[in-house]
Amino acid sequence: MRWGPRRPVAGAAIGLMVLSAIVLAGCGPAPLASDGRLPVVTTTTVLADMVRNVGGDLVAVSSLVPVNGDVHTFEPRPSDMGMVARARLLFMNGLGLDDWMTKTLGNAAQPGTPLVRLAEGLPGFTLLPGETATTANPHLWMDVAYAEGYADRIAAALAAADPAHAASYAARNATYQASLRQLDAWVREEIDSVPAANRRIVTYHDAFPYYARAYGLTIVGVAVPAPGQEPSAKYTAELIDAIRAADVKAIFSEAQFPAKLVHQLAAETGAQVVANLYDGSLGDPPVTSYEALIRWDTRQIVAALQ
Ligand SMILES: [Zn+2]
Repeated sequence: MRWGPRRPVAGAAIGLMVLSAIVLAGCGPAPLASDGRLPVVTTTTVLADMVRNVGGDLVAVSSLVPVNGDVHTFEPRPSDMGMVARARLLFMNGLGLDDWMTKTLGNAAQPGTPLVRLAEGLPGFTLLPGETATTANPHLWMDVAYAEGYADRIAAALAAADPAHAASYAARNATYQASLRQLDAWVREEIDSVPAANRRIVTYHDAFPYYARAYGLTIVGVAVPAPGQEPSAKYTAELIDAIRAADVKAIFSEAQFPAKLVHQLAAETGAQVVANLYDGSLGDPPVTSYEALIRWDTRQIVAALQ
């Protein structure tokens, strides 16, 4: 699915009323950086890379969660208040991924600074269930077509914050969209090369349902109900049964999470462990961009499932 230009909308998402962008109350945005670039702050390195692609040299973008950090369990540091205070534009994912942005850091922003929740309220996005019946899974960007929606919204927000360069943001976004469409097609081809009977995976936490839905994988289970939460013995026993029943070849984890539990699952089931995927954060080279992250994960998944 592709999107054309759009304006911000308010929408309902699994019972939650969400606004696509909120403006923090008050009077007047922070100045431009001393080099004239638009200061932008994102919650994650993945979102920062998307902003860098659309904004180019016109923006100075920083991520609050560092490379190889975990967005779910991130605790803002005092220095993060200053970073937010200097921003002219803030981006978060929303849907519960990075609520600490509003809970802890929202008051640090200069009055009038827009805060855009990239995953919330975009038309054409079909949300999947989250940890509870009333929440949605927030990892939408793992479906590249949805990342295209993020980029469109980033381009619109940059143009609104810096209208003098609106044409540049639109042009850079068009180039980025073409690149993302190629990436989406590449992932599809790669996963199509996996024998259909092998396209079943288990992951550490529930970060891959949008990826799986888009590219034709089945997620048999996840090792932890949520990052930072220990599973019960009953939960793990049921997961082991499910892995055996589905004859899952590989259990995947992310580089920033402890690998002990997935090794235990593998020892019990004979599945292979692949503990170097990325989703919420960029990593060490070569995983230094969103596109590289998707290519890296896809290569690991395809190699393990052959
Ligand atoms: Zn996650």
